Amino acid sequence: MIVPGTGHPTDAASDATPVARTPQDVARLAGDAPSLRELDGRSSVCRACPRLVAWREEVARTRRAAYGDQVYWGRPVTGWGPAQARIAVVGLAPAAHGGNRTGRIFTGDRSGDWLFAALHRAGLASSPTSTSADDGLQLRDVRITLPVRCAPPANRPTTSERDACAPWLTAEWRFLQPTVRAVVVLGGYGWAALWPVLRAAGESVPSPVPRFAHGAEVALAHGPTVLGCFHVSQQNTFTGRLTEPMLDQVLLRARTVAGMT
Ligand code: SF4
Repeated sequence: MIVPGTGHPTDAASDATPVARTPQDVARLAGDAPSLRELDGRSSVCRACPRLVAWREEVARTRRAAYGDQVYWGRPVTGWGPAQARIAVVGLAPAAHGGNRTGRIFTGDRSGDWLFAALHRAGLASSPTSTSADDGLQLRDVRITLPVRCAPPANRPTTSERDACAPWLTAEWRFLQPTVRAVVVLGGYGWAALWPVLRAAGESVPSPVPRFAHGAEVALAHGPTVLGCFHVSQQNTFTGRLTEPMLDQVLLRARTVAGMT
C-alpha cells in the first residue's frame, strides 16, 4: 500500500491528513474540506467501511501475478481532472487491479482503456492510453469521479457503503458546480447513486428521479445536463452492448451541452 505523503503522483494526502473512521467522520471531513485538493487528500485516506478497507488492502498485499513487482495503491481512489472542468464523468468504483493498483481512476484496466481512448477521440484527453499515474496523461476540461471510492469485492458495494461514501462526492460536486455543465454517468449504479448527491448539493433534482437508459438526457433547472451511458465494463464492451460509436456519441453530446463545440 502507498503510504500517504511519500511522493505518489496522485497523492493529495500527508501524514497529517485527518482520517475518517466512521460515516459520521466522512460527513464532517467532507463537509468542511477547504479545497478540492484537501478533499481529495481526506477521501484518499478514508477507513469508514471496514469490509472495503479489508478488501482493498488484501488485494494490495496479495496482488495479481502480472503486477507482482508493483506496490499497489491500496487506498480510496479520488476524482481526477481539472477543478474547472465543464464535463464530469461519473463511474461506479475502482477496479481491484486497476485504480486500486495504480492510484488513478480508471487507470490500468480494460474499462479505462475504452474510456480514455474515447476521451482522446473527443479531444478531452491528451493520449488514448492510461497505464500508470506517472504516464503523463492529462485531461482537458473533464473530471472523472466516482460514487464509491474503494474497490469492492465482485464490484458490488453495499447500500450502506454507497451511502457512507456519498458525502465525498457531494463535497466534490460543490467544488465542480460553478463550471460543470454536462455529467456523463456510466451505468445504472452510478446513475442511481448520483441523484441523492446532486440533491444534497442543492441541484433541482426531479422526483421521481429519471430512469437510467443509454442516451437518457436530463437537463436540470439552473444546473447541468445529466447524460446516461452504458458502463465501459468488459461485460458491455466485449458483448457489443456498448460500442465505440455509442460512447463517442454521448461524449460529443456532452461537449455540445457544455458549450464546447
Ligand atoms: S468506500 Fe468511501 S466511505 Fe467507504 S472507506 Fe472507501 S472512501 Fe471511505
